[in-house]
Order: sequence, then C-alpha cells, then structure tokens
Amino acid sequence: MSFLKQRNPFENALKQFDKAAKILKLSESQIAMIKEPRRVIEVNLPVRMDDGSIRIFKGFRVQHSIARGPAKGGIRFHPEVTVDEVKALAFWMTYKCAVVNIPFGGGKGGVVVDPAELSPNELENLSRRYIAEMAEVFGPNKDVPAPDINTNPQIMAWMMDTYSMHKKEYLPGVITGKPLEIGGSEGRSESTALGMVYCVHEAAQHLNMQIKGATVAIQGFGNAGSNAAKFLYEDGARIVAISDISGAYYNPAGIDIPKALEVCARNRRWVLEGLEKHTNVQKIEDPMKLLELDVDILIPAALENQITEENAPNVKARLIAECANGPITVEADEILDKKGVFIIPDILCNAGGVTVSYLEWVQNRMGYYWSKEQVDEDLKRIMVRAFNEVLETSRQYNVSMRIGAFILAIQRVTRASELRGLYA
Ligand code: NAD
Repeated sequence: MSFLKQRNPFENALKQFDKAAKILKLSESQIAMIKEPRRVIEVNLPVRMDDGSIRIFKGFRVQHSIARGPAKGGIRFHPEVTVDEVKALAFWMTYKCAVVNIPFGGGKGGVVVDPAELSPNELENLSRRYIAEMAEVFGPNKDVPAPDINTNPQIMAWMMDTYSMHKKEYLPGVITGKPLEIGGSEGRSESTALGMVYCVHEAAQHLNMQIKGATVAIQGFGNAGSNAAKFLYEDGARIVAISDISGAYYNPAGIDIPKALEVCARNRRWVLEGLEKHTNVQKIEDPMKLLELDVDILIPAALENQITEENAPNVKARLIAECANGPITVEADEILDKKGVFIIPDILCNAGGVTVSYLEWVQNRMGYYWSKEQVDEDLKRIMVRAFNEVLETSRQYNVSMRIGAFILAIQRVTRASELRGLYA
C-alpha cells in the first residue's frame, strides 16, 4: 500500500517539524524557504519491452533542499508510488542529512512500476532510461541518488554507467549504493544497523544502562533488524524476541542469534520460518505483543505506525531505537514521552545508511578507497557526535530527543539557506 494512503507517517513528521519550528519562532518566510520542495520533476519514460512494444512509465525526482549541498536520496520502484509520497520522503532526507551534519540536502525519486513484472532486460532498459531522461538533474555536485525499495546495487551500476556515458567521463560519485567493484563502499550493507547500535550505546550510557545483559526485542529481521540483532548479541545483550512476516519468536533466556541468522540463510527467502524447530524459542501468538514485552530496549525495524495510542500504554521498554521510519504515531509519542521512555528518533537513529552513502561519495571523489575499519570508524564518529548534539539540543530546549533532532536540523538548514541568501 502506498506510503501516503496509510495512516500518514509523513503527517506525523510534519507535525513534529511544525512543533520545532514554533519553538524556534521561525518567521513565515523562513518556513517557506525550508518546508516545500525546491524542484519537482515528472517524466514519461518510453521503454522498449522484450516483445518489441513500447511502454510508457511515469518517473519522478524531487529535490527538496539543496541549501546544504547536493540533494541526496534513493530511487524507489513501486506500482503505487506517487509524487506526493516522493515529496514526503525527500523532505525527510533533508532533515536526516542535517541531523548527522553531512553536506547534503534532501531528494527522492520514484518510478511507477512493479519490477517483478519486468524481465531483467526490461528492468535494465527502464533504469537506464530514467537516469538518461534526467541526466541534467543528477550529478555528483547536484543530486546524488541511491537504492530504495525495489532498487539495488545492480540498478545503481546501470544508472552510473548510463550517466557516465552521457557525460563522456567516469563519474561514480553521481550515485551511491553501487557494487564494491565499481566504487561502492565497504560497510554499506550493515551501515544502518551499525549506526543505530552506536546510538543505542550512547543512549545506554546516558541512561546508566549496561548493554551487556540488557534485554532486547526487535520487530523486523531484514537488513536493518537482523544486523542490529547480530551486533547487539556480539555486545552481550540478551535478544529475547525477534519477528518478521513469518511471526514473532520469544525466549526469555535469550535467542541464539547466529542460529537464527543461519535459519534465515537456509530458508529460500530471508525469513525466520521454522525457527522454533531449530532453537529453544516459542512463537508468540499475536506478533504485535512483541512490542509490549518487558524488555530494556525495543527496536522497531519493520514498518510505520506500529506503536499507536492503543498499545503505547502497554510498552514497557525504557529505551526505543526507531530503526524504521515513523514507527511511532504522534499520539503514541506523547504517551511514551509522559511515561519517561527514552526514544532515539528515526531521523537520527537510522541515518547510518545515508552517512555511509556520504562516505562512498567522498571516496569516489578522491578515487581512494578505505578499509571497512576506516569506514566504521568514521560512521561511529559521525553518529556519536550527532547523538550527543541532539541530546544537548533536547536538554537546552527541554524537549524530547525527537523535537531536539528537528530543532537541530531545522537550525542547520535555515542557517545555510540564510547564509546563501537569494540569488537575483
Ligand atoms: P527489509 O525489507 O530488509 O526488512 C524488513 C523486515 O520487516 C523483514 O524481516 C520483514 O519480514 C519484516 N516485516 C514486514 N512486515 C512485518 C510485520 N508486520 N511484523 C514484523 N515484521 C515485519 O527492510 P530494512 O532495510 O531492514 O528496513 C527496515 C526498516 O528500516 C524500514 O522501515 C526502512 O524504511 C527502515 N530503514 C532502513 C534503512 C536501510 O538502510 N536498510 C535505512 C533507513 C531506514
């Protein structure tokens, strides 16, 4: 279902933005400069299909902000993607990049297509046509896309190649999330989870909580959730519950995470199906109850709107790390805030992915590539700094970490926009 047709997480983000803008007493002109997208591009993409016919696909690119640097954000291939959805996601990227203070604005792209219906050849034709049609929009100094839902490193490789052919030079910095062999970065695939785990460590220190022995529940066991489970398990945390589309699995003594990863790898798709046959876990009848378990740390790493005013009163975790975008509704956020739950907000918590995208772009521009250790060290430095700046802002304004993150990001975008001023 389209992102905007659900109970709208973007509206939640806008409400939080408005709250922060009010605290900062921004003028109407200041808000006008930073809230609406700078550019919205819509194209009709003719693509030759395998049977010789030509099909037209609609494509979008939204550049929400270029105040702090080139627009940055992924390209989504989805049958229900809309321009409004892409605008919302581009807005989010502007503030995510500003929170971690990487020199990018925000952007997002989309193509209305179900890629499962295309042959590999048709998918390649469509990917190349999208970037060719917008060759003047993108560029290492203008707008740098990346993978998003249903797009992957191979698609990034085709797009980089097409763009480089158009410009008649090798320009890997036009896109991130590429395969390692053609300018991708070490550490990109685990970067979101690792960035989040650095935030969790900082938060635990702030709350006087030991990670070693802390109990953790994780909703979602995909790229972000499974890597988070792996890292926290290695740090000595007790992961008592994990879940995915196959159900939720529980063991109060702690789940054997290496075994769970092995089960996922053995299953055809990356799912936990059958975990109860291989390890000492029980299935939770209602998977949503995972969110209400008596744990120290809760990590929603699946979908939006999972914690609402209905289940928020039952949440027992002391610390919530928002790996998914918008997993807590505005109403639930207020309930949790009153209960004293410490929440690491999405625009900070899951920014590790775009941070390593930034490191990939830097390496492409230098033509010099770092080891995984070097990338992880930089990711850690950036995430720890961002966490503590958000914490400091939230203390200074006496607001939650979420509003603190928006205040910090809005200040940065507004300042950049004012320093640059208006040309002509
Ligand atoms: P993914 O597709 O790899 O994994 C999603 C997981 O959620 C899968 O395990 C899936 O089975 C599970 N899931 C789906 N519906 C569920 C349900 N109702 N209950 C429990 N589990 C369910 O996605 P991902 O890349 O791991 O991303 C997870 C979340 O983090 C998304 O909200 C995404 O937008 C956000 N995020 C991811 C990244 C990244 O780099 N991977 C970056 C920023 C934000």
